[in-house]
Amino acid sequence: MADRIIVLTGGIGCGKSTVADLFQAHGVCVVDADAIAHDLTGPEGAAMADLVIAFGPGVCQADGSLDRARMRALAFSSPEARAQLEALLHPAIQAEAARRLSQAPGPYAIYMAPVWLEQQAKRGKTHTPPSIAADRLVVVDCSPETQIARVQARNSMTNEEVLAIMAAQVSRAERLAAADFVIDNGGPTEALDRQVAQLHEHLIKP
Ligand code: ADP
Repeated sequence: MADRIIVLTGGIGCGKSTVADLFQAHGVCVVDADAIAHDLTGPEGAAMADLVIAFGPGVCQADGSLDRARMRALAFSSPEARAQLEALLHPAIQAEAARRLSQAPGPYAIYMAPVWLEQQAKRGKTHTPPSIAADRLVVVDCSPETQIARVQARNSMTNEEVLAIMAAQVSRAERLAAADFVIDNGGPTEALDRQVAQLHEHLIKP
């Protein structure tokens, strides 16, 4: 079990995956909430039965995995559907993440959780304690303009689609205010190497 859990977050396209890969190159175990969500909703995924009960067999593809485009459309068009999806998936993701983190070796492990702050805000309203205790929060940061450009280059999404996702996330200012450490990804990827190396040196210390 790693001594400490470091949560890595940031807005869409800020560079979380890129930064996570760099930590992994230093031998750090990275547990990825999105990858867990993918596993839970893949063929024979542990969440599929509940999702079919909640949203009907139409959200399930022939191979038993989630029809992501359909689910995304449902979640974006109906706040109730979105809340129901989150209520089903998030506890399952956290439970699996906690299990994987408990097996991580080394002085620290990284939990890459794109919606960590959004969930924290919701938990605050319901006074629900987090199921994963973060020792430190690392935020990967870049300007909204850079976010949009990088997401569009990656996923061929429209400006409006990216803006809709960004509008559902906490603001850049809120992320920066919550951060214990900020990784500036406003420049080229080479500029990340030194920042991650420095932070790693700091985080491995007891
Ligand atoms: P996130 O995981 O936060 O959504 P990614 O790490 O996937 O973000 O980065 C979004 C896209 O931008 C990817 O295609 C990635 O290769 C690219 N990218 C990340 N950092 C940089 C950078 N500093 N310069 C140019 N492209 C970048």
